[in-house]
Amino acid sequence: MGGRVWLVRLASLLALGLVLASVDASLGDVDPQYRTCVEECQTTGVIGENIISHCKSQENQNDTSGGGSWYTQEQWKQLKCKADCRYFCMMQIEGERESLGLNPVKYHGKWPFLHVSVFQEPLSAALSAINLLMHFTSWLSFFLLVKNKLPLRPQTRRTYYEYTSLWHIYAMLSMNAWFWSTIFHTRDIDLTEKLDYSAAVALLGYSLILSLIRTFNVKDEATRVMFAAPILAFVTTHILYLNFYELDYGWNMKVCVVMAVVQLLTWAIWAGVTRHPSRLKLWIVVFGGALAMLLELYDFPPYMGYADAHSLWHASTIPLTYLWWSFIKDDAEFRTSTLIKKAK
Ligand SMILES: [Zn+2]
Repeated sequence: MGGRVWLVRLASLLALGLVLASVDASLGDVDPQYRTCVEECQTTGVIGENIISHCKSQENQNDTSGGGSWYTQEQWKQLKCKADCRYFCMMQIEGERESLGLNPVKYHGKWPFLHVSVFQEPLSAALSAINLLMHFTSWLSFFLLVKNKLPLRPQTRRTYYEYTSLWHIYAMLSMNAWFWSTIFHTRDIDLTEKLDYSAAVALLGYSLILSLIRTFNVKDEATRVMFAAPILAFVTTHILYLNFYELDYGWNMKVCVVMAVVQLLTWAIWAGVTRHPSRLKLWIVVFGGALAMLLELYDFPPYMGYADAHSLWHASTIPLTYLWWSFIKDDAEFRTSTLIKKAK
């Protein structure tokens, strides 16, 4: 009996989740006015005073004079036509909504952003590029510190710091994630979206492994593999699922939030118990990171058409990245001096 009651409760909870997820999908693009607008625009190439040139070419579809590249060219034009029509219809309806005193709504899962030249979300794209730059310069300074400034082990010529190569990999994955984030916020198509999501999941999964290895002081290879293997297996499966089965935003959000919360908690607990000289920096990064995550969860529409919660989240990670790498460099110095003292 009890089991059946729980099953019913679980099922209704799942059903409620599905309903909420579908409502959350996008209010803007289910509006019939928007749909008619996009359809008309795609067939006529005209919207208000704007003429969309890529849509006009559909009249000459029987003209096969281009040869092999004609098909791909035509496909590209159709994609551009669809994207431009969606943008102009969204802006037209949003203008009407604003004059009626209504709040903005999302279209195809996104807030109505004002484009700047080729950039779809100019602020998020620019901030992603700055994050990329911040990781690059910080990693470079970490690299110079461990290679040139700190002493190396006399026999092997390797660093005393046991986590050097792990942080190098972290830097590569971070730069990779911010690179695809910059591209995705510039042009949101199926491919750039999948690359951005995959790179972000890979970075989150890897930094979870790293947080466990560092806080539990795991030094030998076998134990490191034991920590890494289950997370690596899960993250790989999840990335394959997103790319080749279904890009499920709700599920992906849950996976990312869990991975982020677990590593923030891991670092927070460690920062509470350790005697590490730079634990204050760690505290600020963990606390700031948690606050920044709230921005990602409490989504609000773009202010002046540019600054939404997501772009502010990308802004907040810039100073946090600087402080984070500063902690990593402190950690390398601290571990090196401890190990040298021990060796004497
Ligand atoms: Zn982003």
